Amino acid sequence: MKDCNCIFCKIANGEIPSATLYEDDEFRVILDLNPAAKGHSLILPKEHYANLFEIPEDVLGRAAAVAKKVSGKLFTALHATGLNLVQNNGRSAGQTVFHFHLHMIPRYDDDNVKVGWVPGSLTEQDAKEIVSYFK
Ligand code: AMP
Ligand code: ZN
Repeated sequence: MKDCNCIFCKIANGEIPSATLYEDDEFRVILDLNPAAKGHSLILPKEHYANLFEIPEDVLGRAAAVAKKVSGKLFTALHATGLNLVQNNGRSAGQTVFHFHLHMIPRYDDDNVKVGWVPGSLTEQDAKEIVSYFK
């Protein structure tokens, strides 16, 4: 279901124009308006899913296939030296548009883009606790 108040629904379905790199029945890939680096693009499903927890597995799988195809082309065309796939879920994780999207960020030597965290140290207690949820 599309959400009429969602800007990415409107962009994905062509109601709002965008710089489109790729389109099929299910996805549109657009250039991000505020790129972290040259070629920063977003894969948008045409259906509305708020985040990773809502998007069905098969749609996610096809989004990954689009990511592989389009990011490969971006990487080559822009002579990138690296590429990050980034996908944010929830405000605390930096999500600002609540329609699932996958960032493709080409990287260049010394580009100063920050995608990262300060590494912590895994405690035995956390390891035991978290592993126990998967038993
Ligand atoms: P996130 O923080 O993961 O929710 O990412 C949202 C991304 O969408 C940001 O990188 C924004 O720059 C980008 N963005 C927001 N509005 C638009 C728009 N109208 N067209 C293209 N990119 C957009
Ligand atoms: Zn939407």
